[in-house]
Amino acid sequence: MTARIIDGNALSARVRGEIAERAAALSARGVQPCLAVILVGENPASAVYVRNKVAACEKAGIRSLRLDYPADVAPAVVMTKLAELNADPAVHGILVQLPLPPQFDEAAVLEAISVSKDVDGFHAENVGRLSQNQEAFLPCTPHGVMKMFEAEGVPLAGAEAVVIGRSNIVGKPMAMLLTNAGATVTVCHSKTRDLLFHTRRADILVAAIGKPRFVTGDMIKPGATVIDVGINRLQSGPDAGKLCGDVDFDSAREVAGLITPVPGGVGPMTITMLLENTVISAGRAASAAGK
Ligand code: NDP
Repeated sequence: MTARIIDGNALSARVRGEIAERAAALSARGVQPCLAVILVGENPASAVYVRNKVAACEKAGIRSLRLDYPADVAPAVVMTKLAELNADPAVHGILVQLPLPPQFDEAAVLEAISVSKDVDGFHAENVGRLSQNQEAFLPCTPHGVMKMFEAEGVPLAGAEAVVIGRSNIVGKPMAMLLTNAGATVTVCHSKTRDLLFHTRRADILVAAIGKPRFVTGDMIKPGATVIDVGINRLQSGPDAGKLCGDVDFDSAREVAGLITPVPGGVGPMTITMLLENTVISAGRAASAAGK
């Protein structure tokens, strides 16, 4: 079997088109959606992510407010700015690019963002709401994966889903979303005793590990849906310098039924969901202001 490829670029373009229409309608009502993006330091990967997010905003008709700070900035400076942004009615979404330099308490920074503007979905209150299956801003990467399942008609209720990775930004919220959708979910991580046992019985396998080409074809149940969240830059070998996922695409696609590529899979959906959350937040602000 050769898997059908889920085209994250195409799905993303379609959803971003709808988001741009909603942003234009809000702007016409006098509320242009606005996302504030805070970047601390010069981490090159973070700088690329922030640039991509800002560019995607502009393209969708969302105003972006980019705030850059040097790596040695005092945390109090950023906290004061967050308080200002929380209070600014023209700002609908606030994002602090992670990781932050060591002088910061990341959890405290995330908690300092107003729950109603937490478009990354990392605030403890939004995480708690998600765990209770209540309406919340959903973390963008796992939310983007759920959009892919929906677009492809992947049945989730009753499915055996295995998530490799238990980070706060991908693995755990992914597992919660799948649980809320009725899947039977297993979360694997570096301490898991028999990873193969789990992956080989998965109807849905999500890899969020951060290890290039870790999941190989022999680990996959024939016909499974395989979602590759990983973004890794190969350091050596013939493909050195190229991006690859956590899944060995060539061997996996011979076994899976549906598979996401890297690049062009989950990556573009992550930014799309950030734009969607910002537009949702702006829509709420417009309604609250009676516009
Ligand atoms: P983390 O490093 O925070 O988490 C990695 C997880 O993988 C951990 O839970 C770890 O287990 C687990 N793990 C590591 N080695 C193994 C192993 N040998 N067997 C089983 N599990 C293992 O990474 P993130 O969740 O932040 O990111 C994961 C990947 O997704 C990265 O490549 C990242 O770049 C990418 N990413 C992509 C995004 C996108 O938009 N497409 C967005 C965010 C991330 P343990 O907890 O025990 O250490």
